Amino acid sequence: MLYINGEWRKSNCGDTLEVMNPATGQLIKSVASGGREETREAIECAKEAFKTWKKATGEQRGSYLAEAVKKMKEKADDIAETITLEMGKPLLDAKREVAGAISYLDWYAEEAKRIYGETIAASHPDKHLMVLREPVGVTAAITPWNFPSSMITRKIAPAIAAGCTVVLKPAPSTPLSAIKVFECFHEAELPKGVVNLVIGPAEEIGDEMTENPDVRKLTFTGSTNVGKLLMRKSANTVKKVSMELGGHAPLIVFADADLEAAVQGVLLTKFRNAGQTCISTNRIYVAESIANEFGKKLAQEVEKLTVGNGIEEGIDVGPLINSLALEKVESHVEDAIRKNGKVLCGGRRVEITKGHFYEPTVINNAHDDMKISTEETFGPVAPIFTFKDEAEIIQRANHESYGLAAYCFTNDLGRGHRMVKELEYGIIGINDASPIVPQAPFGGIKESGIGKEGGKSGLLEYLEEKFVSINMGN
Ligand code: ADP
Repeated sequence: MLYINGEWRKSNCGDTLEVMNPATGQLIKSVASGGREETREAIECAKEAFKTWKKATGEQRGSYLAEAVKKMKEKADDIAETITLEMGKPLLDAKREVAGAISYLDWYAEEAKRIYGETIAASHPDKHLMVLREPVGVTAAITPWNFPSSMITRKIAPAIAAGCTVVLKPAPSTPLSAIKVFECFHEAELPKGVVNLVIGPAEEIGDEMTENPDVRKLTFTGSTNVGKLLMRKSANTVKKVSMELGGHAPLIVFADADLEAAVQGVLLTKFRNAGQTCISTNRIYVAESIANEFGKKLAQEVEKLTVGNGIEEGIDVGPLINSLALEKVESHVEDAIRKNGKVLCGGRRVEITKGHFYEPTVINNAHDDMKISTEETFGPVAPIFTFKDEAEIIQRANHESYGLAAYCFTNDLGRGHRMVKELEYGIIGINDASPIVPQAPFGGIKESGIGKEGGKSGLLEYLEEKFVSINMGN
């Protein structure tokens, strides 16, 4: 179903989209699929709604978000199950995601009251200078399938807290979770047109979103290539853009690190969501002197992970999203083996039902000329590279084009700080493999993105500064 101007509806020409379960290859459901026309209608409604929504107080806007929190808590288990069915992550992880999704609504429900301006010292005694912060306007949001609920609230919560109205396009593979999240907004009785949901062909909807001059802001999470395309398309109408794009995270383990903690860090950042996260570890750099021991310990733990349909109990690693994703993972592993990589565990497809499963894999003896050392694998493959000293690893850890997340394990305080200074990434975890919280800015540098989500910075992305100079003289 599409959700436009506070109403659930079909598309104008009755088109539908099939949603498949990646764990079984079976059809879950068909949903209404709209295109350019419906997107234009949704933008029109969002434009109309903006006229009054921007005048609501922060307290009023926050109270709608607080209501949405209540509704989402009531539906949490149902949303989690939907996530598992349509994108495959284990149910427990899906529940964690929904809790995360709620935390963004909750945090911005409070923060809606805390939008501040500034006054500036004038250069003339008769002048008053001030800066006001006002909502940007109609916002188009495009979200990915790997976190199909939390990527929505991470965009919508700050947007509506700031006073913007939104038209959202979820990924075509995960529209059902988006519908469930929008049911919460509907039940929270958000005024008509404040949030709108359009499901359908990406390019068609994307073209309307980027070409329509009434859209003043575009917020996107997805691949770097699509992000670049959307930036180019948004240039004609000079939209404000936020881009959360690809990453290629290094995880560095120094010889002085707590090895158990580092192994747990890899399990968390590499095998959660089957490695399908933009902040997933892609390169594990281990000090030469401890590399064998580390590889053994890691492989021992990885072998314990259970692969299967995430809806069943006790599953650690679910399927990959589709057959293309599976082929990419396979090609990265084959390339690594051809270049003398040693498979410590895993390394093959798993034939369960008709799902897209791949064994959790650890590869030793990884080298900088392998595909996995520069391209995003987006799968459960952990390559171990070795390094000699700090100077060398600083050089190798920084990526030519990506700069999203980096992790480092060391028990040397000074070294930890030096790494923070040298690593060219937007998010850094020192002895911390799960640094993401709603109150902190999430975002990359270089080709990993523009702008932040979460925290105060996340709110500023939806606000425009207006400078006012008042001459009090007569
Ligand atoms: P992934 O490879 O992880 O699926 P994508 O960047 O292809 O990442 O997808 C992220 C989001 O961008 C999805 O909602 C997808 O439908 C959307 N998308 C893909 N191509 C386009 C496009 N040309 N215009 C607008 N949205 C697009």
